[in-house]
Amino acid sequence: MAKVTLTEYECRKNLLPDVCMKCGEPADTRVKRNFSWYPPWVMVLVLAGVLVAAIVALILTKKMSVRAPMCDLHKDHWSKRTMWTLITFGILAVLGIGGIVILGAVENGPNKDSFTGLICGGGVFGLLAWLILVVIFQSTMIKPTLITDKKITLVKVHPEFVRALEDDRAADEDDDDQPPPRKKKFDRRDDDDDE
Ligand SMILES: [Zn+2]
Repeated sequence: MAKVTLTEYECRKNLLPDVCMKCGEPADTRVKRNFSWYPPWVMVLVLAGVLVAAIVALILTKKMSVRAPMCDLHKDHWSKRTMWTLITFGILAVLGIGGIVILGAVENGPNKDSFTGLICGGGVFGLLAWLILVVIFQSTMIKPTLITDKKITLVKVHPEFVRALEDDRAADEDDDDQPPPRKKKFDRRDDDDDE
């Protein structure tokens, strides 16, 4: 997958090509996505306190809205991941509460220790499985690695989308009637596909 930097102007004016950002096929629709980002080093501040990190993250968070071209197959690219993250977390929470209820019921029973081991082990396993799921979702998702007032860099976009965007920009620059071309640094990197 590739990496692309879009200007704030391109996002605001909806100047992205009609190519699905995920698979490179012709786009059927635009999906409005409000991206937000803060510098990753903010997480180090967790060592100084979660509240400190949260406040600094809030101050430094940058946002940009993108109307992302998507095909019908990928129009739920973000919403599907959010939905499954919440659903699986909900299931885990219900199981966790069920486990605590069972532990309370067997508190004075003869099998207390084996129940406790089973439920605690199950809880740790469930939480780990959920974290792995979230990491997989994150690693295959189109997401920002930088947002400033003027531009946004997105990763995991399809190379075909990047190529179409480059073509559009080149066509704009060739057109003499157009205002000065948007000369923004634009990088592209191809690595292995993940989906
Ligand atoms: Zn697609």
